[in-house]
Amino acid sequence: MECVEKDIVVIGGGPGGYAAAFSLADQGRRVVIVERDARLGGVCMNRGCIPSKALLNAVHAIRAAKESAHRGISFGEPTLDLVRLRQWKNGILERLGSGIAGLAKMRGVEVMQGTATFTNSQTLQVASEGAVHQLRFQKAILATGSRPLLPKAFDFGSPRIMTSTEALDLPDVPASLLVVGGGYIGMELGTVYASLGSKVTVIEAQEALLTGADPDLVRPVGLFARKAFQSVRLKSKVLQMEPVAELVRVTSETEGKTLEEEFDRVLVSVGRVPNSEGLGLENTRAERDDRGFVRVDPLLQTTDPNILAIGDVAGGLMLAHKATWEAKVAADQICGRLHGAPVAPVIPAVVFTDPEVAWVGLTEQEAARAGTPVEIAKFPWGASGRAITLDRIDGLTKLVLEPGSRRILGVGIVGVGAGELIGEGALAVQTGATAE
Ligand code: FAD
Repeated sequence: MECVEKDIVVIGGGPGGYAAAFSLADQGRRVVIVERDARLGGVCMNRGCIPSKALLNAVHAIRAAKESAHRGISFGEPTLDLVRLRQWKNGILERLGSGIAGLAKMRGVEVMQGTATFTNSQTLQVASEGAVHQLRFQKAILATGSRPLLPKAFDFGSPRIMTSTEALDLPDVPASLLVVGGGYIGMELGTVYASLGSKVTVIEAQEALLTGADPDLVRPVGLFARKAFQSVRLKSKVLQMEPVAELVRVTSETEGKTLEEEFDRVLVSVGRVPNSEGLGLENTRAERDDRGFVRVDPLLQTTDPNILAIGDVAGGLMLAHKATWEAKVAADQICGRLHGAPVAPVIPAVVFTDPEVAWVGLTEQEAARAGTPVEIAKFPWGASGRAITLDRIDGLTKLVLEPGSRRILGVGIVGVGAGELIGEGALAVQTGATAE
Protein backbone atom coordinates (compact mmCIF):
# COMPACT_ATOMS: atom_id res chain seq x y z
CA MET A 1 0.00 0.00 0.00
CA GLU A 2 1.33 3.40 -1.01
CA CYS A 3 2.19 5.61 1.97
CA VAL A 4 2.29 9.39 1.53
CA GLU A 5 4.03 11.61 4.12
CA LYS A 6 2.47 14.99 4.89
CA ASP A 7 3.01 17.61 7.57
CA ILE A 8 -0.65 18.16 8.16
CA VAL A 9 -3.78 16.42 7.04
CA VAL A 10 -7.18 18.06 7.24
CA ILE A 11 -10.13 15.68 7.16
CA GLY A 12 -13.19 17.32 5.65
CA GLY A 13 -13.33 20.08 3.06
CA GLY A 14 -16.11 22.27 4.56
CA PRO A 15 -15.80 25.86 5.82
CA GLY A 16 -13.75 24.55 8.76
CA GLY A 17 -11.51 22.19 6.79
CA TYR A 18 -10.69 24.28 3.74
CA ALA A 19 -10.19 27.42 5.81
CA ALA A 20 -7.73 25.55 8.07
CA ALA A 21 -5.85 24.13 5.09
CA PHE A 22 -5.60 27.54 3.42
CA SER A 23 -4.38 29.21 6.59
CA LEU A 24 -1.74 26.50 7.12
CA ALA A 25 -0.58 26.70 3.51
CA ASP A 26 -0.33 30.49 3.84
CA GLN A 27 2.01 29.86 6.78
CA GLY A 28 4.22 27.63 4.65
CA ARG A 29 3.00 24.19 5.77
CA ARG A 30 2.50 21.18 3.48
CA VAL A 31 -1.19 20.30 3.73
CA VAL A 32 -3.55 17.77 2.25
CA ILE A 33 -7.34 17.88 2.52
CA VAL A 34 -9.09 14.52 2.49
CA GLU A 35 -12.71 14.92 1.40
CA ARG A 36 -15.13 12.14 0.54
CA ASP A 37 -17.43 14.34 -1.57
CA ALA A 38 -16.52 15.04 -5.19
CA ARG A 39 -16.62 18.78 -4.47
CA LEU A 40 -15.04 20.86 -1.71
CA GLY A 41 -17.28 23.15 0.34
CA GLY A 42 -18.78 20.75 2.85
CA VAL A 43 -22.36 20.79 4.04
CA CYS A 44 -22.48 24.57 4.03
CA MET A 45 -21.82 24.92 0.33
CA ASN A 46 -23.24 21.68 -1.04
CA ARG A 47 -26.33 20.97 1.08
CA GLY A 48 -26.70 23.70 3.71
CA CYS A 49 -26.23 27.45 3.90
CA ILE A 50 -25.67 28.23 0.22
CA PRO A 51 -28.45 26.22 -1.47
CA SER A 52 -30.94 27.19 1.26
CA LYS A 53 -30.10 30.89 0.96
CA ALA A 54 -30.21 30.71 -2.85
CA LEU A 55 -33.70 29.21 -2.75
CA LEU A 56 -34.90 31.64 -0.07
CA ASN A 57 -33.71 34.50 -2.21
CA ALA A 58 -35.39 33.08 -5.32
CA VAL A 59 -38.78 32.59 -3.66
CA HIS A 60 -38.61 36.04 -2.09
CA ALA A 61 -39.53 37.38 -5.54
CA ILE A 62 -42.82 35.46 -5.40
CA ARG A 63 -43.75 36.92 -2.03
CA ALA A 64 -42.65 40.44 -2.98
CA ALA A 65 -44.84 40.29 -6.09
CA LYS A 66 -47.85 39.07 -4.09
CA GLU A 67 -47.37 41.79 -1.47
CA SER A 68 -47.34 44.61 -4.03
CA ALA A 69 -51.01 44.71 -5.06
CA HIS A 70 -52.09 47.12 -2.30
CA ARG A 71 -49.42 49.53 -3.51
CA GLY A 72 -51.00 49.55 -6.93
CA ILE A 73 -48.57 47.15 -8.59
CA SER A 74 -49.99 43.78 -9.57
CA PHE A 75 -48.50 40.78 -11.31
CA GLY A 76 -50.14 37.65 -12.60
CA GLU A 77 -49.76 34.28 -10.87
CA PRO A 78 -46.08 33.28 -11.00
CA THR A 79 -45.25 30.29 -13.16
CA LEU A 80 -42.67 27.93 -11.83
CA ASP A 81 -40.01 26.14 -13.86
CA LEU A 82 -38.61 23.81 -11.23
CA VAL A 83 -35.94 22.39 -13.54
CA ARG A 84 -34.60 25.87 -14.22
CA LEU A 85 -34.74 26.87 -10.54
CA ARG A 86 -32.82 23.72 -9.64
CA GLN A 87 -30.27 24.35 -12.39
CA TRP A 88 -29.77 27.94 -11.24
CA LYS A 89 -29.23 26.81 -7.64
CA ASN A 90 -26.86 24.01 -8.69
CA GLY A 91 -24.95 26.44 -10.91
CA ILE A 92 -24.18 28.54 -7.83
CA LEU A 93 -22.80 25.48 -6.01
CA GLU A 94 -20.64 24.51 -8.99
CA ARG A 95 -19.30 28.03 -9.29
CA LEU A 96 -18.43 28.28 -5.61
CA GLY A 97 -17.03 24.73 -5.55
CA SER A 98 -14.63 25.44 -8.39
CA GLY A 99 -13.72 28.71 -6.70
CA ILE A 100 -12.64 26.84 -3.55
CA ALA A 101 -10.79 24.22 -5.63
CA GLY A 102 -8.99 27.06 -7.45
CA LEU A 103 -7.95 28.67 -4.17
CA ALA A 104 -6.61 25.30 -2.95
CA LYS A 105 -4.57 24.85 -6.14
CA MET A 106 -3.22 28.38 -5.98
CA ARG A 107 -1.90 27.71 -2.48
CA GLY A 108 -0.48 24.27 -3.32
CA VAL A 109 -2.97 22.51 -1.03
CA GLU A 110 -3.41 18.96 -2.24
CA VAL A 111 -6.94 17.53 -2.28
CA MET A 112 -7.44 13.77 -1.99
CA GLN A 113 -10.89 12.45 -2.64
CA GLY A 114 -11.76 9.57 -0.33
CA THR A 115 -13.00 8.54 3.08
CA ALA A 116 -10.46 8.88 5.87
CA THR A 117 -10.11 6.49 8.83
CA PHE A 118 -7.44 6.72 11.54
CA THR A 119 -5.31 3.61 11.98
CA ASN A 120 -3.36 5.30 14.77
CA SER A 121 -2.41 8.78 16.00
CA GLN A 122 -0.11 9.39 13.03
CA THR A 123 -1.58 7.40 10.19
CA LEU A 124 -4.77 7.50 8.19
CA GLN A 125 -6.22 5.25 5.56
CA VAL A 126 -7.96 6.93 2.68
CA ALA A 127 -10.36 4.73 0.74
CA SER A 128 -11.47 5.81 -2.70
CA GLU A 129 -13.12 3.75 -5.44
CA GLY A 130 -11.64 0.44 -4.34
CA ALA A 131 -8.14 1.84 -3.75
CA VAL A 132 -6.74 2.42 -0.26
CA HIS A 133 -3.89 4.83 0.44
CA GLN A 134 -1.97 5.41 3.63
CA LEU A 135 -1.20 8.90 4.84
CA ARG A 136 1.34 9.61 7.57
CA PHE A 137 1.02 12.97 9.25
CA GLN A 138 2.47 15.00 12.08
CA LYS A 139 -0.79 16.75 12.88
CA ALA A 140 -4.36 16.12 11.80
CA ILE A 141 -7.28 18.50 11.93
CA LEU A 142 -10.63 16.79 12.13
CA ALA A 143 -13.29 18.85 10.35
CA THR A 144 -15.80 16.16 9.41
CA GLY A 145 -18.87 18.24 10.26
CA SER A 146 -22.32 16.88 10.94
CA ARG A 147 -25.35 15.33 9.25
CA PRO A 148 -29.11 15.52 9.74
CA LEU A 149 -30.54 13.48 12.59
CA LEU A 150 -33.15 11.09 11.25
CA PRO A 151 -34.71 9.21 14.18
CA LYS A 152 -34.91 5.44 13.57
CA ALA A 153 -38.71 5.47 13.82
CA PHE A 154 -38.89 7.75 10.74
CA ASP A 155 -36.09 6.11 8.78
CA PHE A 156 -37.83 3.44 6.73
CA GLY A 157 -36.41 4.32 3.35
CA SER A 158 -39.35 6.31 2.03
CA PRO A 159 -38.28 8.99 -0.47
CA ARG A 160 -41.30 11.00 0.75
CA ILE A 161 -39.54 11.49 4.10
CA MET A 162 -36.78 14.00 3.55
CA THR A 163 -34.01 15.60 5.56
CA SER A 164 -32.69 19.04 4.61
CA THR A 165 -30.34 17.35 2.10
CA GLU A 166 -33.18 15.93 -0.03
CA ALA A 167 -35.43 18.95 0.51
CA LEU A 168 -32.72 21.21 -0.96
CA ASP A 169 -32.71 19.08 -4.12
CA LEU A 170 -36.29 20.31 -4.72
CA PRO A 171 -37.64 16.95 -5.95
CA ASP A 172 -41.06 18.58 -6.54
CA VAL A 173 -43.43 21.02 -4.90
CA PRO A 174 -45.61 18.75 -2.76
CA ALA A 175 -49.23 19.81 -2.31
CA SER A 176 -48.78 19.27 1.42
CA LEU A 177 -45.58 19.22 3.43
CA LEU A 178 -45.15 18.41 7.09
CA VAL A 179 -42.09 19.96 8.70
CA VAL A 180 -41.11 18.12 11.87
CA GLY A 181 -39.10 20.58 13.98
CA GLY A 182 -39.50 24.35 14.06
CA GLY A 183 -35.81 25.20 14.36
CA TYR A 184 -34.01 27.38 11.83
CA ILE A 185 -33.60 24.70 9.15
CA GLY A 186 -37.28 23.67 9.31
CA MET A 187 -38.48 27.26 9.30
CA GLU A 188 -36.20 28.33 6.43
CA LEU A 189 -37.10 25.36 4.22
CA GLY A 190 -40.76 25.59 5.26
CA THR A 191 -40.67 29.19 3.99
CA VAL A 192 -39.19 28.05 0.65
CA TYR A 193 -41.83 25.37 0.09
CA ALA A 194 -44.73 27.53 1.32
CA SER A 195 -43.66 30.30 -1.08
CA LEU A 196 -43.53 27.77 -3.93
CA GLY A 197 -47.10 26.75 -3.16
CA SER A 198 -47.00 23.83 -0.70
CA LYS A 199 -49.42 23.80 2.22
CA VAL A 200 -46.91 23.61 5.06
CA THR A 201 -47.63 22.32 8.56
CA VAL A 202 -44.99 22.68 11.27
CA ILE A 203 -44.97 20.44 14.32
CA GLU A 204 -42.62 21.52 17.09
CA ALA A 205 -42.19 19.73 20.42
CA GLN A 206 -41.11 22.83 22.36
CA GLU A 207 -43.42 25.66 23.31
CA ALA A 208 -41.82 28.08 20.84
CA LEU A 209 -40.36 28.16 17.34
CA LEU A 210 -36.62 28.82 16.96
CA THR A 211 -35.84 27.82 20.54
CA GLY A 212 -32.63 29.45 21.67
CA ALA A 213 -33.55 32.77 20.07
CA ASP A 214 -35.03 35.60 22.14
CA PRO A 215 -38.87 35.20 22.22
CA ASP A 216 -39.25 38.93 21.45
CA LEU A 217 -37.43 38.31 18.17
CA VAL A 218 -39.27 35.10 17.37
CA ARG A 219 -42.76 36.61 17.76
CA PRO A 220 -42.92 38.29 14.29
CA VAL A 221 -41.66 35.07 12.67
CA GLY A 222 -44.48 33.15 14.38
CA LEU A 223 -47.00 35.69 13.08
CA PHE A 224 -45.62 35.36 9.54
CA ALA A 225 -45.61 31.56 9.73
CA ARG A 226 -49.21 31.46 10.93
CA LYS A 227 -50.20 33.45 7.83
CA ALA A 228 -47.95 31.76 5.27
CA PHE A 229 -48.17 28.17 6.53
CA GLN A 230 -51.23 25.96 6.79
CA SER A 231 -50.64 25.48 10.51
CA VAL A 232 -47.99 25.76 13.21
CA ARG A 233 -48.42 23.43 16.18
CA LEU A 234 -46.29 23.93 19.25
CA LYS A 235 -45.91 21.51 22.17
CA SER A 236 -46.81 18.78 19.68
CA LYS A 237 -45.17 15.50 18.79
CA VAL A 238 -45.08 13.14 15.86
CA LEU A 239 -45.78 9.68 17.26
CA GLN A 240 -45.67 7.59 14.12
CA MET A 241 -45.21 7.76 10.37
CA GLU A 242 -46.01 5.17 7.73
CA PRO A 243 -46.02 5.21 3.94
CA VAL A 244 -49.49 4.88 2.40
CA ALA A 245 -49.55 4.71 -1.40
CA GLU A 246 -48.01 8.03 -2.57
CA LEU A 247 -48.45 9.69 0.82
CA VAL A 248 -47.12 9.53 4.36
CA ARG A 249 -49.61 8.89 7.14
CA VAL A 250 -48.60 10.76 10.26
CA THR A 251 -49.95 10.27 13.76
CA SER A 252 -49.25 13.21 16.03
CA GLU A 253 -50.26 14.52 19.41
CA THR A 254 -51.32 18.12 20.06
CA GLU A 255 -52.80 19.42 23.29
CA GLY A 256 -53.61 15.90 24.47
CA LYS A 257 -55.41 15.03 21.20
CA THR A 258 -54.17 12.43 18.77
CA LEU A 259 -54.39 13.38 15.09
CA GLU A 260 -54.01 11.21 12.02
CA GLU A 261 -53.22 13.04 8.76
CA GLU A 262 -51.69 12.37 5.36
CA PHE A 263 -49.00 14.48 3.72
CA ASP A 264 -47.35 14.35 0.30
CA ARG A 265 -43.94 14.81 1.86
CA VAL A 266 -42.37 15.17 5.29
CA LEU A 267 -39.24 17.14 6.14
CA VAL A 268 -37.57 15.94 9.32
CA SER A 269 -35.48 18.77 10.78
CA VAL A 270 -35.02 17.77 14.41
CA GLY A 271 -31.30 18.44 14.75
CA ARG A 272 -27.89 17.40 13.52
CA VAL A 273 -25.39 14.80 14.73
CA PRO A 274 -21.60 14.98 14.50
CA ASN A 275 -19.73 12.85 11.94
CA SER A 276 -17.45 11.30 14.52
CA GLU A 277 -18.10 7.58 14.23
CA GLY A 278 -16.52 5.28 11.64
CA LEU A 279 -13.44 7.50 11.71
CA GLY A 280 -11.26 5.08 13.67
CA LEU A 281 -11.03 7.50 16.59
CA GLU A 282 -10.82 4.43 18.85
CA ASN A 283 -7.34 3.87 17.31
CA THR A 284 -6.26 7.26 18.62
CA ARG A 285 -6.46 8.98 22.00
CA ALA A 286 -9.15 11.45 20.87
CA GLU A 287 -12.30 11.16 22.97
CA ARG A 288 -15.92 11.95 22.23
CA ASP A 289 -18.55 13.22 24.64
CA ASP A 290 -21.81 11.39 25.30
CA ARG A 291 -23.46 13.12 22.31
CA GLY A 292 -20.65 12.08 19.98
CA PHE A 293 -18.92 15.47 19.69
CA VAL A 294 -15.13 15.27 19.74
CA ARG A 295 -13.82 16.74 23.00
CA VAL A 296 -11.55 19.76 22.54
CA ASP A 297 -9.90 22.33 24.80
CA PRO A 298 -10.08 26.09 24.07
CA LEU A 299 -7.15 25.67 21.65
CA LEU A 300 -9.17 23.00 19.80
CA GLN A 301 -6.73 20.30 20.82
CA THR A 302 -8.39 16.90 21.29
CA THR A 303 -7.22 14.46 23.99
CA ASP A 304 -4.79 13.14 21.36
CA PRO A 305 -1.77 15.49 21.10
CA ASN A 306 -1.56 14.99 17.31
CA ILE A 307 -5.20 15.69 16.53
CA LEU A 308 -7.21 18.92 16.63
CA ALA A 309 -10.95 19.18 15.91
CA ILE A 310 -12.93 22.13 14.60
CA GLY A 311 -16.38 23.07 13.36
CA ASP A 312 -19.58 21.07 13.83
CA VAL A 313 -17.78 17.87 14.86
CA ALA A 314 -16.28 19.72 17.84
CA GLY A 315 -19.70 20.93 19.08
CA GLY A 316 -20.72 24.40 20.25
CA LEU A 317 -22.50 26.65 17.76
CA MET A 318 -23.02 24.66 14.57
CA LEU A 319 -22.46 27.55 12.17
CA ALA A 320 -20.19 27.91 9.18
CA HIS A 321 -18.44 31.07 10.35
CA LYS A 322 -17.78 29.49 13.75
CA ALA A 323 -16.06 26.60 11.92
CA THR A 324 -13.99 29.09 9.91
CA TRP A 325 -12.94 30.99 13.01
CA GLU A 326 -11.89 27.75 14.71
CA ALA A 327 -9.96 26.83 11.56
CA LYS A 328 -7.81 29.91 12.01
CA VAL A 329 -7.26 29.15 15.71
CA ALA A 330 -6.26 25.54 14.95
CA ALA A 331 -3.88 26.62 12.16
CA ASP A 332 -2.27 29.26 14.38
CA GLN A 333 -1.99 26.74 17.20
CA ILE A 334 -0.19 24.24 14.95
CA CYS A 335 2.14 26.97 13.66
CA GLY A 336 2.96 28.04 17.24
CA ARG A 337 1.44 31.48 16.81
CA LEU A 338 -0.91 31.32 19.78
CA HIS A 339 0.17 32.19 23.27
CA GLY A 340 -2.65 31.07 25.53
CA ALA A 341 -6.30 30.63 24.67
CA PRO A 342 -7.65 33.06 22.07
CA VAL A 343 -10.20 35.65 23.15
CA ALA A 344 -13.64 34.14 22.62
CA PRO A 345 -15.03 35.66 19.43
CA VAL A 346 -18.32 37.46 19.04
CA ILE A 347 -20.26 35.12 16.76
CA PRO A 348 -23.53 36.34 15.29
CA ALA A 349 -26.35 33.97 14.40
CA VAL A 350 -28.83 34.65 11.61
CA VAL A 351 -32.06 32.86 10.77
CA PHE A 352 -33.17 33.63 7.22
CA THR A 353 -36.88 33.40 7.84
CA ASP A 354 -39.30 36.17 6.90
CA PRO A 355 -38.65 38.42 8.72
CA GLU A 356 -35.03 37.55 9.42
CA VAL A 357 -33.83 37.07 12.99
CA ALA A 358 -30.27 37.87 14.02
CA TRP A 359 -28.50 38.21 17.30
CA VAL A 360 -25.01 38.55 18.71
CA GLY A 361 -23.48 38.57 22.17
CA LEU A 362 -25.52 38.19 25.35
CA THR A 363 -29.28 37.65 25.16
CA GLU A 364 -31.75 38.78 27.81
CA GLN A 365 -32.53 35.13 28.61
CA GLU A 366 -28.85 34.16 28.99
CA ALA A 367 -28.34 37.14 31.33
CA ALA A 368 -31.36 36.06 33.42
CA ARG A 369 -30.11 32.47 33.64
CA ALA A 370 -26.64 33.62 34.72
CA GLY A 371 -28.08 36.17 37.18
CA THR A 372 -26.29 38.98 35.31
CA PRO A 373 -28.08 42.31 35.79
CA VAL A 374 -28.73 44.02 32.45
CA GLU A 375 -30.68 46.93 31.06
CA ILE A 376 -32.82 46.37 27.97
CA ALA A 377 -33.46 48.93 25.24
CA LYS A 378 -35.99 48.20 22.49
CA PHE A 379 -36.76 50.01 19.28
CA PRO A 380 -39.89 48.82 17.48
CA TRP A 381 -39.66 49.34 13.75
CA GLY A 382 -43.14 50.85 13.59
CA ALA A 383 -41.30 54.08 14.40
CA SER A 384 -38.71 53.65 11.64
CA GLY A 385 -39.22 55.64 8.45
CA ARG A 386 -37.05 53.16 6.58
CA ALA A 387 -39.16 50.19 7.74
CA ILE A 388 -42.36 52.07 6.81
CA THR A 389 -41.07 52.72 3.28
CA LEU A 390 -40.26 49.02 2.99
CA ASP A 391 -43.81 48.28 4.13
CA ARG A 392 -42.32 46.04 6.80
CA ILE A 393 -42.80 47.45 10.25
CA ASP A 394 -42.77 43.94 11.75
CA GLY A 395 -39.33 44.48 13.18
CA LEU A 396 -37.61 45.16 16.48
CA THR A 397 -34.10 46.05 17.53
CA LYS A 398 -33.14 45.09 21.05
CA LEU A 399 -30.00 46.03 22.97
CA VAL A 400 -28.76 44.25 26.08
CA LEU A 401 -26.75 46.79 28.07
CA GLU A 402 -24.46 46.77 31.07
CA PRO A 403 -26.25 48.87 33.74
CA GLY A 404 -24.41 52.11 34.48
CA SER A 405 -21.86 52.12 31.66
CA ARG A 406 -24.55 51.20 29.09
CA ARG A 407 -21.95 49.12 27.27
CA ILE A 408 -23.60 46.99 24.59
CA LEU A 409 -23.37 43.34 25.65
CA GLY A 410 -25.79 41.95 23.10
CA VAL A 411 -27.84 42.97 20.08
CA GLY A 412 -30.93 41.23 18.74
CA ILE A 413 -32.75 42.20 15.57
CA VAL A 414 -35.85 40.87 13.88
CA GLY A 415 -36.93 42.44 10.62
CA VAL A 416 -36.20 42.63 6.92
CA GLY A 417 -32.42 42.66 6.40
CA ALA A 418 -31.61 41.72 10.03
CA GLY A 419 -28.86 39.45 8.69
CA GLU A 420 -27.10 42.44 7.16
CA LEU A 421 -27.73 44.81 10.06
CA ILE A 422 -26.32 42.45 12.69
CA GLY A 423 -22.78 43.06 11.40
CA GLU A 424 -22.91 46.47 13.02
CA GLY A 425 -24.20 44.88 16.21
CA ALA A 426 -21.27 42.46 16.21
CA LEU A 427 -18.86 45.36 15.82
CA ALA A 428 -20.54 47.20 18.72
CA VAL A 429 -20.30 44.17 21.02
CA GLN A 430 -16.73 43.30 19.95
CA THR A 431 -15.43 46.84 20.41
CA GLY A 432 -17.34 47.49 23.66
CA ALA A 433 -19.35 50.38 22.23
CA THR A 434 -21.90 52.07 24.48
CA ALA A 435 -25.54 52.64 23.61
CA GLU A 436 -24.96 56.40 23.33
P1 FAD B 1 -19.12 20.43 7.09
O1 FAD B 1 -19.49 21.61 6.30
O2 FAD B 1 -20.17 19.49 7.55
O3 FAD B 1 -18.03 19.64 6.24
C1 FAD B 1 -17.53 18.41 6.65
C2 FAD B 1 -16.97 17.69 5.45
O4 FAD B 1 -16.28 16.53 5.91
C3 FAD B 1 -18.04 17.21 4.48
O5 FAD B 1 -17.77 17.70 3.19
C4 FAD B 1 -17.93 15.67 4.55
O6 FAD B 1 -18.16 15.06 3.30
C5 FAD B 1 -16.49 15.47 4.98
N1 FAD B 1 -16.23 14.21 5.69
C6 FAD B 1 -16.92 13.70 6.75
N2 FAD B 1 -16.35 12.54 7.15
C7 FAD B 1 -15.31 12.29 6.32
C8 FAD B 1 -14.33 11.27 6.23
N3 FAD B 1 -14.32 10.24 7.08
N4 FAD B 1 -13.41 11.35 5.27
C9 FAD B 1 -13.39 12.40 4.38
N5 FAD B 1 -14.29 13.41 4.43
C10 FAD B 1 -15.22 13.36 5.39
N6 FAD B 1 -24.53 27.86 8.93
C11 FAD B 1 -24.42 29.20 8.87
O7 FAD B 1 -23.48 29.76 9.44
N7 FAD B 1 -25.33 29.98 8.19
C12 FAD B 1 -26.38 29.40 7.55
O8 FAD B 1 -27.20 30.12 6.95
C13 FAD B 1 -26.53 27.99 7.59
N8 FAD B 1 -27.55 27.40 6.96
C14 FAD B 1 -27.65 26.04 6.98
C15 FAD B 1 -28.69 25.44 6.30
C16 FAD B 1 -28.84 24.07 6.30
C17 FAD B 1 -29.99 23.43 5.56
C18 FAD B 1 -27.87 23.26 6.97
C19 FAD B 1 -27.98 21.76 6.96
C20 FAD B 1 -26.80 23.83 7.64
C21 FAD B 1 -26.69 25.23 7.66
N9 FAD B 1 -25.65 25.87 8.34
C22 FAD B 1 -25.56 27.24 8.31
C23 FAD B 1 -24.67 25.11 9.15
C24 FAD B 1 -23.36 24.92 8.38
O9 FAD B 1 -23.63 24.26 7.17
C25 FAD B 1 -22.38 24.10 9.23
O10 FAD B 1 -22.25 24.69 10.50
C26 FAD B 1 -21.01 24.06 8.55
O11 FAD B 1 -21.11 23.48 7.28
C27 FAD B 1 -20.02 23.28 9.41
O12 FAD B 1 -18.78 23.29 8.76
P2 FAD B 1 -17.70 22.13 9.02
O13 FAD B 1 -16.50 22.53 8.21
O14 FAD B 1 -17.56 21.89 10.45
O15 FAD B 1 -18.32 20.80 8.42
